[in-house]
Amino acid sequence: MAAIAHAEREHALLSASAAHRWLACTPSVRLEEQFPDTTSPYAQEGTLAHEIAELKLRKYFIEPMSQRSFSAKLNKFKKHELFQEEMLKHTDTYLEYLKEITLAFPSKPYVAVEKRVDYSAYAPGGFGTCDCIIIHGEHLYVTDFKYGKGVPVSAENNPQMKLYALGAYLEYSLLYPIQHVHLTIVQPRLDSISEWSLSIDELLAWGEEIKPIAQKAFNGEGDFVPGEHCKFCRAKAQCRARADQYTALEDFKLMKPPLISNEEVGAILEKAQHIEAWVKDLKEYALAECLKGNEIPGWKAVEGRSTRQFADLDKAFEHLKQNGIDEAMLYERVPLTVAKIEKVLKKAEFTRLLEEPGFVVKTPGKPALVPISDKREAITAAPDAADDFQ
Ligand code: SF4
Repeated sequence: MAAIAHAEREHALLSASAAHRWLACTPSVRLEEQFPDTTSPYAQEGTLAHEIAELKLRKYFIEPMSQRSFSAKLNKFKKHELFQEEMLKHTDTYLEYLKEITLAFPSKPYVAVEKRVDYSAYAPGGFGTCDCIIIHGEHLYVTDFKYGKGVPVSAENNPQMKLYALGAYLEYSLLYPIQHVHLTIVQPRLDSISEWSLSIDELLAWGEEIKPIAQKAFNGEGDFVPGEHCKFCRAKAQCRARADQYTALEDFKLMKPPLISNEEVGAILEKAQHIEAWVKDLKEYALAECLKGNEIPGWKAVEGRSTRQFADLDKAFEHLKQNGIDEAMLYERVPLTVAKIEKVLKKAEFTRLLEEPGFVVKTPGKPALVPISDKREAITAAPDAADDFQ
């Protein structure tokens, strides 16, 4: 059981998890090489959740172990400083999902957990670790467990999942007549399970399509293309292409007449979409530079506002109570939100006790401006829509 393997997981230069970036901005991988690969507490938390999931999957699918040995291994994880009780529930959700897939087959499928796959035939030096691979007859299932709770990640056309699937296909195509590929991303903390299927021909055709792009990325060639994918790029603060995208807003100064047109509003918003994230990245970078003693003209680091907190909350409250302060004064009673109550009650109970009797009402959302690529239907303030929003 490779419990520590996660922490030491190697990354290919053309890693699957960054494929959405290097496919869009081919020179990014080589530019990133000069920046250190840092990790965050969220990533470490994800690693621990993966290790717990791996233990459960191995016990169920691969190497039956005694409850005692399982508990001993699990207890080691429980002692980790980042362990949270909810990790047990979320890893169960993931295991249950995989169990359902395997139990639907008429015979026992092949299952691999934390399987390293090699997709270098499509992207130079490319390899990665699949969280779970299930194969039965013509069907290949590639599942990724994501512990993050930022935004739900869709499996549809997801390049990371497709690269894993290519690697899995190359590994197993001699043994199994794989024809159908099923990609799933399980994000239990967001109650999200995204599934998407494609034929093996479609997958292989995509692999051929990306080959020249991957080669360019490996060579560090092509144009820098900023976009949403800059978010996790290690060069994001200093990248000139990203900066040019926003500083080019100055072009609009040259425009006449005094009022800008709707076309110009659209063009400016298009350029400015990610400006807030960019400014935040620049500030983080500048602060780090100032703290290192490097000069960022016009800026300096200072000590932020300090906050007060109890040295020991329990002791402080006990002390207050002993001095005659009523406990009711020390706590606020705050009702849970609808979403939290749904989580506590579970869906069926929530529907029966609150939704069906009409205790929950849904108010229409406020109109929001989004890029044209957003999947939601466009609305106007035509009389009907205006009434809806009243
Ligand atoms: S910050 Fe964006 S544009 Fe610059 S290298 Fe990274 S991905 Fe490309």
